[in-house]
Amino acid sequence: MSSNGKLLVIGFGPGAFEHITERAREAIDESDVIIGYNTYVDLIRGLLTDQEIIRTGMTEEVSRAQEAVRQAELGKKVAVISSGDAGVYGMAGLVYEVLIEKGWAQQSGIEVEVIPGISAINSCASLLGAPVMHDACTISLSDHLTPWDVIAKRVEAAASADFVIALYNPRSGRRTRQIVETQRIVLKHRSADTPVGLVKSAYRDREQIVITTLGGMLEHDIGMLTTVIIGNSTTFMYDGLMITPRGYRRKYTLNSLDQPLKPHERLRTEAEPWSLNAKEETREDSRAKPLALAAEALQLVQRKAGAVPAAVPPAAQNRVSILEIGVSPGIANKKMTAKQMSLIAELAGDEGELEYTPHHQVILRMRTDDAGAVAARLRDEGLLVFPIGDVVQVKACDFCNLEKDDAIPVAERLAGKLGGLTTPKELKIGVNGCGMACYGAVMEDIGLVFRKGGYDLFLGGKQIGRNAHAGQNVAEGIPADQIVEKVEQIYKEFKEKAHPGERFHKFFKRVGTVAGFVHEDNAAPVEVNAVCGD
Ligand code: SAH
Repeated sequence: MSSNGKLLVIGFGPGAFEHITERAREAIDESDVIIGYNTYVDLIRGLLTDQEIIRTGMTEEVSRAQEAVRQAELGKKVAVISSGDAGVYGMAGLVYEVLIEKGWAQQSGIEVEVIPGISAINSCASLLGAPVMHDACTISLSDHLTPWDVIAKRVEAAASADFVIALYNPRSGRRTRQIVETQRIVLKHRSADTPVGLVKSAYRDREQIVITTLGGMLEHDIGMLTTVIIGNSTTFMYDGLMITPRGYRRKYTLNSLDQPLKPHERLRTEAEPWSLNAKEETREDSRAKPLALAAEALQLVQRKAGAVPAAVPPAAQNRVSILEIGVSPGIANKKMTAKQMSLIAELAGDEGELEYTPHHQVILRMRTDDAGAVAARLRDEGLLVFPIGDVVQVKACDFCNLEKDDAIPVAERLAGKLGGLTTPKELKIGVNGCGMACYGAVMEDIGLVFRKGGYDLFLGGKQIGRNAHAGQNVAEGIPADQIVEKVEQIYKEFKEKAHPGERFHKFFKRVGTVAGFVHEDNAAPVEVNAVCGD
């Protein structure tokens, strides 16, 4: 074996010369032989001088790698060229594998240098805007060398974990179904209007850039030279660009030089309620079990920020594998019939789970591929189903067995308007029908207590933990025709201004004023001499 031979495994970037690295140019220049797929040799032809050229067809990678090793063993400097980066679905791995088969070792064997290049995920992203600003992965849809089941599993995992996904080798003349199947899998976890970028021949002649959606992407030309970039649940389109936010808006105002948090405050735990440190501090709040956490995470990534209609719990939309929903006999009605209980038990079966929570709820968890049908069966039996997790939940008392029913319409209107809407953190609204408030409305995030013809409003209660406390009594006697509007306003401000994961009582304290109601640090205690029915 000659000691002078060298293998230079070169990624030359997307195609244009200005995107080739300096070292890649040098390496091409210093090599005696260039080995590559025909199209690639043509792309770098302008950089060649008197090198010997060994061209091969596309599917001949193995013979290309073997030939490269053979030529290097003859003492030549051999450039093996790949588009993009040679270590990303390129020739680098294969060259090493061929060498290893021959018993090669770094110390004693032929010298190998892998020269990095700009891979398609980066070149294509740059043409689309900034779609890969956050956690992303690449998946090749070519199943010529990888079992389809493995690819499908990776697509599923990436989609469910909300990765931005760059699909390489999305489609060829013979492989046309893989991209269709991939779209189907991703749609289980992301909404059809998720932005998708299609870039064909980035930085080459005939470059094409299309910004479309997950639902509409198959209507466009996708081929061998296309990279498909699927946005995550936060990616948005703006003026022909595709942008994935990094999360700066959680802490900064981007349209003003004045920042709400001063530099020394920015890394404090209270400024990052979504962080691991903050989660540990509030662990005493958390009764969540691993399954619930997993399901909650699943729901979060499935839910497109903002708009889940109250009537359809996010988990009840089709194509979820773990369904997790709250079930109750009604807003005010607390009595289940035996038939209703049997149905819930039947649906849970041996594998599912029924949990009775400290919030007087029954939560049904089960595996199903048709969540919509499950929800329909429960509704047909007269049960109310509602999403759980970071959504609005309306909790009412039993109105003394439905006898003191004045406040029921308000509770129902609130449930109809706000119930199930997504929030930065679960938001519980309690409605109690008399001053006894025996269902604990004053401890909820938003509490309404009907008394003497009007509603007393409590904000920022904390039901659990060693520092549990009632909400601040911010108003008394609000007329029935104004209360829904007021609560809606509070919801809107919470939705817009709260940090992800921030509980309502912390939010109220941080912002100071919600819907015109001012937070007081040591609110005066409520004077109580309520008699049942007051
Ligand atoms: N080593 C290359 C990838 C080779 S696999 C790299 O790192 O980029 C071939 C796939 O790469 C193509 O099917 C396409 O999905 C993607 N690709 C490579 N060059 C591209 C370009 N200029 N524009 C768009 N996609 C490209």
